[in-house]
Amino acid sequence: MNKCPYCGSNPRDDYPAEFRCGSVLNRNRSRACLVLEVGLLKDRVKRLEEAGDRLADWHLSVVTTHETAKRHVERWNKAKETKP
Ligand SMILES: [Zn+2]
Repeated sequence: MNKCPYCGSNPRDDYPAEFRCGSVLNRNRSRACLVLEVGLLKDRVKRLEEAGDRLADWHLSVVTTHETAKRHVERWNKAKETKP
């Protein structure tokens, strides 16, 4: 049985494509599920930024004299700081 991926709500009995929370899979989110989804996405961005920082540190520690590596890390830092 499908459950809402954000709040775990069960599907409606009369309309199984919609969950009891009001969300519709791959279409609409209820306000509560939208807030949960935004929180999950923010957590994911944080995890990816931390992983990117660790990779950048490792990259520079392995190839400290290589200008290309430094440019890659500069591009990473610039991309990371660009906010929507
Ligand atoms: Zn939901």
